[in-house]
Amino acid sequence: MTVFSSTSVLQKTASITLSKPVQVTLYMLLSSLVIWTVFFSTYPAAHNTTHSMRHHTLGVACH
Ligand SMILES: [Zn+2]
Repeated sequence: MTVFSSTSVLQKTASITLSKPVQVTLYMLLSSLVIWTVFFSTYPAAHNTTHSMRHHTLGVACH
């Protein structure tokens, strides 16, 4: 009985976490985290790369 109920809980959990709104939310959160981390990184290699990419692609003049 406990095995059956834990399987049911797992199925409910899976159906909730695999639903579209949860997937979209997780995707946007993780994408924002990665973009934020790369754009505001102080690590010289990542900073210089994103800096020149910003100038080349967006035409933003920051200096
Ligand atoms: Zn610049």
